[in-house]
Amino acid sequence: APDPLIRPDARPEDSDRALRPQTLDDFVGQKEARANLRVFIESARQRGQAMDHTLFYGPPGLGKTTLAQIMSRELGVNFRMTSGPVLAKAGDLAAILTNLDTRDVLFIDEIHRLNPVVEEVLYPALEDFALDLVIGEGPAARTVRIDLPPFTLVGATTRLGLLTTPLRDRFGIPTRLEFYTVEELELIVTRAARLLGAEADAAGAREIARRARGTPRIAGRLLRRVVDFAVVEGDGRVTRALADMALHRLGVDDLGLDGADRRYLGMLAENFGGGPVGVETMAAALSESRDAIEEVIEPFLLQQGLLQRTPRGRMLGRRAWTHLGLTPPRQPPQ
Ligand code: ADP
Repeated sequence: APDPLIRPDARPEDSDRALRPQTLDDFVGQKEARANLRVFIESARQRGQAMDHTLFYGPPGLGKTTLAQIMSRELGVNFRMTSGPVLAKAGDLAAILTNLDTRDVLFIDEIHRLNPVVEEVLYPALEDFALDLVIGEGPAARTVRIDLPPFTLVGATTRLGLLTTPLRDRFGIPTRLEFYTVEELELIVTRAARLLGAEADAAGAREIARRARGTPRIAGRLLRRVVDFAVVEGDGRVTRALADMALHRLGVDDLGLDGADRRYLGMLAENFGGGPVGVETMAAALSESRDAIEEVIEPFLLQQGLLQRTPRGRMLGRRAWTHLGLTPPRQPPQ
């Protein structure tokens, strides 16, 4: 099984919380999203109204939860958190909604996994700040409308495509989060090292940043493990050489790929001649769920040009052959 330490979706480590930036100013990267959010937060504050419903989408570990928490803090309201799969019945959501205070932020993680019955309850809540309750049964049944305080829903999803259109349309502020640059991750690692009380020099921080798959959550995890090696096998300092040794021992290669990534690329190269091959076939061959492949493994490989998505299926990018030390087939299919 893939190492949970370096899987971007493996959650949550308690100390994750300690590393979370608390303000929009402390939040590194996502420049565009941050600049826009700053305006929307300030406007809502000045008008004394609930901020518009906001949707964050993008791969796991890029800061969706963190941004939602920052929003509530900067708006000066409570932060309530739940997730799509946890809300099994309409009543579960109704209970949360009726307990909100005015202008609160309600964060729903994995919102693409909401039960359709629960989603129905959400529509009038989002649109009119109202709850439609059905009272009684059969011919005597009637609907009663209950007013809710104005609130802000912040939804997070790794799979925008799985959101129903009516739900998607109810978010006034859809925001896409991008992979981070090495420079941004270097800042994040340096700050995290300081918070952990570890000593990391610039080259050491950069080496971790370079191999963190564009993802702050992975950068934080790798840093902790590298610090472990520094303490036990070094003199406590995170240098480039030490980071390189530790990351190698953790199975993180030069591009930051882990065992699951290499297994995926290797399978595509060696068993399917580099593709094209359908995602279902890949899932079966790897005994992984299709969701895990599409949400966790593929986004970074695609962003790096190691993988291509074509109408006929997945294909290995040219760069991947070199990285795997393999020769591409003589006539690569178009
Ligand atoms: P998501 O909800 O998108 O899966 P999180 O918000 O839980 O991601 O972030 C994962 C981890 O990465 C957290 O520990 C958080 O502290 C850290 N993190 C995310 N974005 C940033 C950032 N821009 N700067 C610093 N740390 C970050």
